[in-house]
Parts: sequence; C-alpha cells; structure tokens
Amino acid sequence: MLILEDRYDVIIAGSGVSGLYTALNLPAGVNVLLLCKKELTLSNSNLAQGGVAAVLDRENDNFSYHINDTMISGGHKNNEEAVKVLVEEGPADVMRVIELGADFDKAETGGYQLTLEGGHSRRRIVHHKDSTGEEMVRALIEEVKKRRNVTIMEKTFLTELSKTASGFFAELIVEDTLFVTTASYVVLATGGIGRVYKYTTNSAIATGDGIRLAYELGAKIAHLDYIQFHPTAFASMEGRERFLISEAVRGEGAYLLNCYKERFMHRYDERKELAPRDVVSHSIMMEYRRTGSDKFYLDITHRDSDYVKNRFPMIYKRCLYEGVDITKDKIPIFPCQHYLMGGIDVDLQAKTSVDRLYAVGECSHTGVHGINRLASNSLLEALVFSRRAAADIVSRMVAGEPKVNSPLYTPANGTAPLPDGLRTQIREIMQKAHFVLPDAGAAEKGLRTIEQILQRLDSRMYRKTPDYCEAKSLCTVAYLILKEAART
Ligand SMILES: Cc1cc2nc3c(=O)[nH]c(=O)nc-3n(C[C@H](O)[C@H](O)[C@H](O)COP(=O)(O)OP(=O)(O)OC[C@H]3O[C@@H](n4cnc5c(N)ncnc54)[C@H](O)[C@@H]3O)c2cc1C
Repeated sequence: MLILEDRYDVIIAGSGVSGLYTALNLPAGVNVLLLCKKELTLSNSNLAQGGVAAVLDRENDNFSYHINDTMISGGHKNNEEAVKVLVEEGPADVMRVIELGADFDKAETGGYQLTLEGGHSRRRIVHHKDSTGEEMVRALIEEVKKRRNVTIMEKTFLTELSKTASGFFAELIVEDTLFVTTASYVVLATGGIGRVYKYTTNSAIATGDGIRLAYELGAKIAHLDYIQFHPTAFASMEGRERFLISEAVRGEGAYLLNCYKERFMHRYDERKELAPRDVVSHSIMMEYRRTGSDKFYLDITHRDSDYVKNRFPMIYKRCLYEGVDITKDKIPIFPCQHYLMGGIDVDLQAKTSVDRLYAVGECSHTGVHGINRLASNSLLEALVFSRRAAADIVSRMVAGEPKVNSPLYTPANGTAPLPDGLRTQIREIMQKAHFVLPDAGAAEKGLRTIEQILQRLDSRMYRKTPDYCEAKSLCTVAYLILKEAART
C-alpha cells in the first residue's frame, strides 16, 4: 500500500552509502522519505570491493600522507580544503560505521587489517574481505530500518524536481503511476553515470539521474569530463556490466602483463603496478598501441593460493564462474568506465548552488578527487559529506527556516513511447569519443548528434517512464561531458 505523504522535511534520493548515512545523521524529529529506484541494495555502494581509506594507524600513517597521496592522484587539481576535511574527519565516520555494525577484517596482531592500494603510500584501507560495500550497506540498511522517522520506498523513481519558495515538488513514478509530493530539502544521492558507456563496472542504476535533475533546476555542474576508467575490469564477459578486479589485487603483488605475458608498467611509470589507476589505464592503452593487441592480464599466481582465496574470496569465486582460477591462471583484463570525479558542484556542507538542494556521494563534486580519484576515497567521501549535509539541514531547521507549504498538482505527461535504440546510440558515441585516450574529432561529431537527441527527448511528447527518464539522464550527462571536453 502506498503511504506517500504530501509533505516531508527531507527527501533523500538514493540508498547507497551516501543516502543511507545522510538518513542516519538526521535526528528523530525530521520526517524523511528515502527513495531508491530499484531494490534497496542495487547500487554502486553494494559493489565496492577494496575498502575505505582512513588514517587509523597513527604510528605508521598520518593525515599529511593521506592528503598528499590524494593530491598526487588528483593531479593537484583537488580542492585542498575539501581534501583536508575528508582526511581529518574521515576516521571518525569509519569508526561510527563500525559502531553501527559494519564488520571489517581484523589483523592477527590486533586492530584492523589495513591493506594497500594503488596510489597509497601507506597501508590504510579497512575492508570486509573483498566485499566491503555490501557489508557497509547491510549494516547501514539495518540501522535505517530501525528509524521511525524514515520512510523507505523501493522501486520509486524520482523523475522531476521543481522549486517552490520553501522547498521542492518531487514527481515520483511508482508502479507506472506518477505521484507528486513536496519536501523542504532534497538530498540527491543518486550515484554515478557508468551506464552512459558501453562497458562499465557500475550497477544498472548508474544513469546520472541526479545530475540531470540538478542541471534542470539550474544547479552548477562541474567537471563532468573527469571520468575514471578502471584499468582492471574482467575482460571476457558478455553484457554491459564488467566485473571489477580490485586495485587491492595489485596492492597484494599482482603483475600486469601484455599480450606476450610480459610485465610492461616499467615502460610508463616508476611505480609500476602500484601507480594510480589513471596512469595504469593510460599505460595499458599505450601498450595496446605499441603491441597492436588488446589482450592484457593480471597475474597473482605467484602468491600462496590459500592466501589469495581467503583475501579475495568474491573475486576468486566470480572468476572461477567465468572459467578462470586466479590461483593458477592469468586473469584477462581491460580498462572500462568506473567512476565520475565531477558532478553536481557542492560546497563543504554538500550544498549545491540551488537553495535547499544538496548532493552527496558519487553524483556530487566536492573537489576531493581532482582529476583522478585515489582508490577507496569515494566511500569515505560518501560518509563525510553526507554527514555534513545532514548537519547543515538540521541547523537550518533549528534556525526556523520555513517549511515547504504548497498545494499539490497533477503532473503533466506525454503519450508517445520512448523510441528504441537511443540509449545504444548514446553509448556508442561516448565509447568512441571520450574513453581513456579521448578523440577530439569523435567528440565534436558526437556532441552534435547528442544535442539533437536531447532536443527530441525534451519535447514533452514522451510518456514519463523510468526508461524515458533514464534515457534523458544519459543524454544530458553525455551532452555535459562532451561539452566540457570540447572546452578543454
Ligand atoms: C565495482 C565497484 C567497486 C568499487 N570499489 C570501491 C572501493 O573499494 N572503495 C571505494 O571507496 N569506492 C569504491 N567504488 C565506488 C563507490 O562504491 C561509489 O562511488 C559509492 O558507493 C557511491 O555511493 P553513492 O551513495 O553515491 O551511490 P550508489 O551507491 O550508487 O547509490 C545510488 C542510489 O541512488 C538511487 N537512484 C538513482 N537514481 C534514482 C532516481 N531517479 N530515483 C530514485 N533513486 C535513484 C539508486 O537506486 C541507488 O539506491 C566502487 C565502485 C564500483 C562500481
């Protein structure tokens, strides 16, 4: 039975780590609606393998090392103030998630088992085997379900937002029907944009809806062309979603090999396999050009097989399912889209340029990642800045900011069905125009086609369905990426 109310204090769109943690940081007196467009656990958060980076070992690590690693990885294009907040406040949020029930692996000597990943100069990544995200999401969902002030609605698609003087109208699709409600504050926690590419590690929800919604409201969007391509996605799979072979596998000593089964990273970077991911992805593409072959492998067969199975049980099982025993075989890999560093521009409180609109997690641009995210910094960002967003909302409510108070309306809708093939066309364009080594000619041509598709989708003739809304989001995101790329 639909229990949608006319008015909420806060709507949170997204049930990944950032949406859930926002909800958990809002006190009992705040009436919250938490939405997700599919099931609660279908998110990029749930797929995170490697872990969360935080300075927990004060003997061998410190804030300046973590800040420095983050800045180096980000090409010093990071917002240094935001990086400082991330690194210095992050450990307390990680401890809070542990208090809330997340179970991270312990070291035999006591304390948490800290692992190393590409670009980190110290062991500082806490993890739950190789399925850290699933464990965090499990713990956070359990907690959110206990909160009586939070209404959770699964399979509820936020399709449009419009501004009122003291909040927002939100149009939602639930089981093919359009509903409207209102909220004094909206937090977009809608995740990434991976599905704008032909191959991605992202889950099916990653269609950039939040970015489109914010853009339509006039919010500032920043650096959408800052896209991370993960160097080691499993390369012999059918379908769009590629299984990720975590950075931590290289952290634990795996070698990268070319088509001749030779190590090659020394040709491109002195850090070899432990170089940050953008460097490794670039190196693979350069080696591809040099050898003319797209066959690449990750090899961890020299490590003890029991250790590998125990350290990477999920990767081991998943590869075995695909016919590769990682304790004996080389793993076929190739880069694919993985993460968005740009997004809805926000300040240190996760506030966008639109009053009362907040953005957290992967859909936001806090500036912490610069041009390239350091491994395991995104779950940390999702925690730190969603807590800050919640705190800001609470302080505004306490200060007596007026609550939303607008009569509901019947939403307009078109009738035409979404034409077939548009999403495929968008993906083909993006794969050619803005992959690891961007192609300026293809980008310029692609932008013209994308503009035409967007005009069609904007014409209000189509029926609002999740498919239509996602196509519009993908097209808007492709448009913003290519426009930004053309400018640089
Ligand atoms: C394979 C993989 C491995 C990764 N490993 C790591 C790692 O080890 N460490 C790390 O720090 N980061 C990792 N990342 C990145 C990290 O997982 C994500 O950046 C982070 O979890 C994003 O969290 P989020 O809350 O912003 O979004 P998500 O977790 O993606 O959640 C998005 C939510 O928004 C909802 N939503 C979207 N659109 C709508 C809409 N229109 N209406 C209603 N709801 C909507 C979705 O249903 C979903 O609930 C990994 C990512 C992937 C894909």
